[in-house]
Amino acid sequence: MYDIVIIGAGTAGMSAAIYAQRGGKKSLMLEKLTYGGQIINTPDIENYPGIAHISGYEFSEKLYRQASDLGVKLEHGTVSSVEDEGGLFKVKTGDNSEFTGRAVILATGARNRHLGIARENELVGKGVSYCAACDGMFFRKKDVAVNGGGNTALGDALYLAGICNKVYLIHRRDQFRGAERDAEKLKVLDNVEFVLNSTVTKLNGDTKLESIDVTDKNSGAVKTIPVSGLFVAIGQEPENGAFANLVNLDAKGYIVAGEDCLTGHSGVFAAGDCRTKSLRQLTTAAADGAVAATAACEYIDRL
Ligand code: NAP
Repeated sequence: MYDIVIIGAGTAGMSAAIYAQRGGKKSLMLEKLTYGGQIINTPDIENYPGIAHISGYEFSEKLYRQASDLGVKLEHGTVSSVEDEGGLFKVKTGDNSEFTGRAVILATGARNRHLGIARENELVGKGVSYCAACDGMFFRKKDVAVNGGGNTALGDALYLAGICNKVYLIHRRDQFRGAERDAEKLKVLDNVEFVLNSTVTKLNGDTKLESIDVTDKNSGAVKTIPVSGLFVAIGQEPENGAFANLVNLDAKGYIVAGEDCLTGHSGVFAAGDCRTKSLRQLTTAAADGAVAATAACEYIDRL
């Protein structure tokens, strides 16, 4: 029996855990993979106030140590359902474990969006990757492509430019969504080539990726680019289906909750990228964790 069950141990979940424990509430983090969430894949974080540079991995480690030193428990499991049994929440996982909490914080983040083209799944680990920080070194001195125009794609391209022979940055528009500063850094690198207004339409190679077909959206022209790695960085999608009985989801599947992290279901709070919000960043995930945990502590104190 816990005071607060936190579903997800990314930046929002771990920040919530720190605030919950410091608020005197016994807390559990439930995580399906390893703690850290999306940011663990970011090679270099430059926009967290007070920290000029840190890798996503190191940031996650520090956050986890801070939470676990305060006594937060971490259990592994994929949450399959959350039931409100008269103010006590029963959280069930895929392996039939069950945890009970007086409040629940949903901090499930989002998963990598896939291109949805033929052979994508088959070639994962054979050239197709969703994590430059994890897999980049396998492509040392080779030619690779990054697909996407957000902060992840720009960060990945910068990181890969430092270890690969050549990096093609493929984006479906001619304007980047990610930070201008990173786009400017990429522009001056000799081994980076922008392929704009283009989408990846075909993956080629027998047993591993050897080249990609890229289609120009304006002319319809298709060109084949020889690469041994393709890093897909085209954003995230939420994974909130298991909570549809409990909270409202918007058309894209995000949990409807405002800056106060209240979901409309008493005792259930939503923090970080899993909720409706205008800016999904490390700072806003951490801030949400603090807001949600403080609200959950106040809720429990009122019970
Ligand atoms: P994102 O900001 O949503 O960008 C996704 C990119 O992929 C966009 O450029 C989008 O194009 C493109 N895209 C989407 N669907 C596509 C498709 N089907 N085919 C081709 N291209 C597609 O995602 P992200 O870069 O992963 O970042 C997610 C969030 O984390 C953002 O809020 C980001 O700022 C944040 N983040 C922060 C940091 C940091 O703080 N250091 C680092 C990484 C990420 P359009 O632009 O045309 O829509």
